[in-house]
Amino acid sequence: FFITFEGPDACGKSTQINLLKNYFQDKGYDVVVTREPGGTLISEKIRALILDKENKNMSYKTEALLYAASRAQHIDELIKPSLLQGKIVICDRFIDSSLIYQGIGRNLGIDKIYNLNLFAIEDTLPDITIIFQIEEEEIQRRKNRRKNLDRLECEKDEFHKKVYEGYKILKDIYPERIKNVDANGTVKQVHERIIKLIQNAMEK
Ligand code: C5P
Repeated sequence: FFITFEGPDACGKSTQINLLKNYFQDKGYDVVVTREPGGTLISEKIRALILDKENKNMSYKTEALLYAASRAQHIDELIKPSLLQGKIVICDRFIDSSLIYQGIGRNLGIDKIYNLNLFAIEDTLPDITIIFQIEEEEIQRRKNRRKNLDRLECEKDEFHKKVYEGYKILKDIYPERIKNVDANGTVKQVHERIIKLIQNAMEK
């Protein structure tokens, strides 16, 4: 079973992914937790290249291709084999991040980015994708507390605004696979909302 988590920067994904991993492990499942860009040695090297603040001149097309390249390696080396072994794979960001950040944020177009990524992922799509919906003011408060921001986190407000709005409409494009979760409230409340969504999806 393949679960992906999505949402704007600082929306609280990593905390919830940890809780979900513990939840499944307590139930005796074999769980793989991974992230994008990254997840394998080669994909993490590509991540470092993308996020490096010295790479100010990276073109948007290069960026989109690097995310897709990192994803191709991740699928072939880790995600697909783990799913074939019957494991639960939880991934922090996946194709939808590309649709939103590169498709909408960078104005490259959702369809174009989707087609580019189909080459990388072939038929490996998530069984469920959970998108964190959180108030913009809360994101800003959290970001102000963070110290080492990466190249993309340092992008102009306009880019982040487009990403934020993009995440609100994604469910309308893929209503079967994508579920929105209200990510405001306590960590425990959000965890319980996520469990409900996943239980429903696993029962189908
Ligand atoms: O979620 P995480 O902080 O690990 O993501 C790393 C950075 O890459 C973030 O700043 C995120 O906004 C950016 N990103 C992106 N396009 C993607 C995936 C991540 O701009 N497709």
